Amino acid sequence: MKQHQIVFNGEREFLKELKKFQRMWGHTPKMMFQILSEVLEAEPIEKIGRAIEKIFPDTPWFGCSTSGTLVDCELVPGITVVAIVFEKESSQFEVFQYDTHEKSLEWITQKIIEDAEDKPWVKAIELYYSFPEESTTKFCEGLQDIDPKVHIFGGVSGNDDMTKSISYVFSKTGGYSNHAITVVFYGGDDFYVDSIKITGWKPLGKKFKVTKSEGSILQELDGVPAYDVYNKYLDISNDENFFYNTLEFPLLYEFNGITVLRTPMASNPDHSISTSADVEVGSAVRITYGDPQTIIESVDNDSQRIKKFRPDVIHFFSCVARRTYWAAGEPTYELKPFKDIAPSSGFFTLGEFLRGDNRLSMHNVTLVVAAMREGEAEQNQMQDMFEDKTASSKKTLVSRLATFISATSIELEEMNKKLTIAAISDGLTGLYNRAETQRRIEENLTNVQNNPLSLVMIDIDDFKQVNDTYGHQEGDTVLIALANILLKEQKRISEKISAGRWGGEEFMLVLANTDVSTATLIADLVRQCFENTAFSSIPAQTISVGVTQANAKDTFDTLCTRVDTALYKAKKNGKNKVIVI
Ligand code: GH3
Ligand code: MG
Ligand code: MG
Repeated sequence: MKQHQIVFNGEREFLKELKKFQRMWGHTPKMMFQILSEVLEAEPIEKIGRAIEKIFPDTPWFGCSTSGTLVDCELVPGITVVAIVFEKESSQFEVFQYDTHEKSLEWITQKIIEDAEDKPWVKAIELYYSFPEESTTKFCEGLQDIDPKVHIFGGVSGNDDMTKSISYVFSKTGGYSNHAITVVFYGGDDFYVDSIKITGWKPLGKKFKVTKSEGSILQELDGVPAYDVYNKYLDISNDENFFYNTLEFPLLYEFNGITVLRTPMASNPDHSISTSADVEVGSAVRITYGDPQTIIESVDNDSQRIKKFRPDVIHFFSCVARRTYWAAGEPTYELKPFKDIAPSSGFFTLGEFLRGDNRLSMHNVTLVVAAMREGEAEQNQMQDMFEDKTASSKKTLVSRLATFISATSIELEEMNKKLTIAAISDGLTGLYNRAETQRRIEENLTNVQNNPLSLVMIDIDDFKQVNDTYGHQEGDTVLIALANILLKEQKRISEKISAGRWGGEEFMLVLANTDVSTATLIADLVRQCFENTAFSSIPAQTISVGVTQANAKDTFDTLCTRVDTALYKAKKNGKNKVIVI
């Protein structure tokens, strides 16, 4: 594969360049034109298309508007045309374009899947998506069934102002459109491809759960408005600089086992945050940080794989947020490691596509790199050895501090978990303590019409005698034995039962969503099980049990008094009994 760049300086100049190409490669070279335009106008693109069709009538052309065009790792202004020439007989490619107003995403994704199945030569699918009007999650999931060996990569086309929600894609087949997806298939026996994503941003501190969100509006993290989290942990204010200040701290979002970066775009008056793409309730996020050296190190390390692949050409899809991040320096600074690997083209995007771990996702703040080659890679072991730089052991102060914060916050999270468990548990038996048992009764008492609630109260018979005869320690083993029976029951029907130690040798089962007849069965099962439990140095023991079901008028006190009365009756009637009231 070879790449040649033409900067578009008017139709006449362009035709001249094309004729030069014709002299070099003849009338029908195996070639495609990728057009990357910082200019958001149809006219020059149509001119370019017409000129190409005049000189090379069979050659496909396609491309998109960009938030900055990259050729050979440098920014090039205006409109750039990149000719990609294939040199192997077996290499194949095809360009499609789908109008998202004419066809549904389901239809489009199904069509792409069918086309890819019909063409067994396909090894890579490149996507150019105009600013999406609906969630790209649906689109990404729609392409799930494509042969897992096929690489999928691409980007959302860009524009000159990242706050604008319009951008264009175009091709010979589909024309110029702000509501379309252009798809390029690459493949053939001698075609090889590799694709990776690089972020460089690293997780920082604790994990938050998304507790409220709607599409790309992130409302709450751990029940707290999302903006308040940024304000509390990073001291970022709710002002016009919010976007620039949070750019160093995007969110690492975990969904379906895939981690994706999301940029906070703006903070809203209700303290929610508009992010760069969907965030689902129930997923976990972590604030990340990007500092120049860590990012450069990541790009340096990850570029090694691409270098070893020995590509003929490289395509970049780099988030416009990265351009903004590096703005103070030079936006293409981080691409330096790729400069000497192969000719490259690409653009700053409003979203990056990559299939990784068998799942296609739209990323943000990410650099997606697709490396393509025709023929086997030439091996050069000496060079590989030379290039296998070990990562620098010198780390920045920021990077070390971030590691320190992450490590301490993980420790705190674990300690917190232990404390939470300790705060609700009984030390001797591991059951819930009385306060937690009471909380669970009260929680379930609010909706007994729809969700029946039953209580089972248990008291060991003549337990004082066990202590008096065999000692307190033996008494404890009896308490633990009973608790273990209750824990086993709790495990068996976990979503319904909470087993608690009510105090001394009294226990309470809180049975959510359970009526009195089932509760009675469970109570008698426990009674029988305990009666048949053998101890090494004392005889078997028994329990008395009271059972009752809550009614709509019950308060915590009336309910507990009733179950206590049932238990008292069981004692009165000879113990080792279950009495229901
Ligand atoms: P009944 O059949 O009427 O329930 O008689 P009982 O002897 O079980 O009743 P009582 O309430 O008089 O005795 C309860 C005993 O439980 C008294 C107390 O020493 C013992 N106890 C309370 N907590 C613990 C504990 O944590 N360990 C041990 N070993 N004994 C405890
Ligand atoms: Mg008692
Ligand atoms: Mg007792």
